[in-house]
Amino acid sequence: MFVAKKVTVSIIKCDVGSLAGHHIVPKPLFDIAQKNMEKAQNEGLINSSFVFNAGDDLELLMVHENGEQNRDIHKLAWDTFKEAADKALKLKLYAAGQDLLKDAFSGNVRGMGPGVAEMEIEERAADPIVVFAADKTSAGSFNYPLFRMFADPMNTAGLVIDPNMLCGFKFEVIDTLEDKSTVLQCPAEMYELLALIGTVGRYAISRIWRASDDLICASSSVSKLSLIAGKYVGKDDPVMIARAQHGLPAVGEILAPFMHSYFVQGWMRGSHWGPLMPVGLKASKCTAFDGPPRIVALGFQVANGKISSDDEGKPLIADLFDDPAFSIARREAIQNGCMLRRMGEFEPARLSAEDMEYTTIQQVLQKLEKRFMPLSQA
Ligand SMILES: [Mg+2]
Repeated sequence: MFVAKKVTVSIIKCDVGSLAGHHIVPKPLFDIAQKNMEKAQNEGLINSSFVFNAGDDLELLMVHENGEQNRDIHKLAWDTFKEAADKALKLKLYAAGQDLLKDAFSGNVRGMGPGVAEMEIEERAADPIVVFAADKTSAGSFNYPLFRMFADPMNTAGLVIDPNMLCGFKFEVIDTLEDKSTVLQCPAEMYELLALIGTVGRYAISRIWRASDDLICASSSVSKLSLIAGKYVGKDDPVMIARAQHGLPAVGEILAPFMHSYFVQGWMRGSHWGPLMPVGLKASKCTAFDGPPRIVALGFQVANGKISSDDEGKPLIADLFDDPAFSIARREAIQNGCMLRRMGEFEPARLSAEDMEYTTIQQVLQKLEKRFMPLSQA
């Protein structure tokens, strides 16, 4: 008989330094992450792992049985990022240790710079998971696709034709400015939800549950680095975990929102709107104007507390955006990106004054302040 097993999927990421600007994670840093993941696996702390990159962010995907916000798991990630940042410093890579905002580990990487999304699940008979990681953008950039996946019947057929989904889903929304949260249920409170999450620079969906039984089905990172450091220190570059099938959106419904590009905050110096480009791992790098902002999606099955793997123990990972089905989105991202770049530093290509509050433009404005005279004296 099948007995449900409690398993935790953790994805913890950090920009520890990049090759040639903010472009990509170089191999020596990957090797450190790989070594530490293998060691943790051999010691039994984690059951499975997969190391990858989203542009210049080093991504540690771990499957284990220690629950969410576990000190040992977070310490493993923190120590790995520290070691990789030290290596980056030695190699004089760009922005070495950029996201490590605190000196000493205090039990949880949340609020220390690295981004984290975690989900403890009771393993189903077959449990498909999709992990998303984006570079050159911020937490609110997942609001639009998460709404489409779990609340929009024009995207997710299951909301209409699967009786297990007719009850809808509950969305936890974080107010990142005032550090508080609320939960709204769709479809009943769909318009209220949109009223909040349309403001992507402030509100971010952090968790989603199925309304009928509170089954967890999505979890995303919502940290804003600028609010931790009090100044601009880099893009927040979010990660997200979504669970699929059997009374939840199908994997194809989870991916469908990315058939077209849409605009997100971030791109160059975290100060511009840019079109999000879904890409396979081989194109997970940011070049033109440090972008366009990119997103990768990896699919896998959780099986007996691990990522389902081949006979040699190598995890079976599906590189879901490595597919011509997303070619239109990629072309749109390039075309719309070119259009925005022709506008240079004019809004709406550049973020609004409110969103530029933590960027270096403030120093420029301060410098100019004494040059202003009241109109009556000019
Ligand atoms: Mg990054």
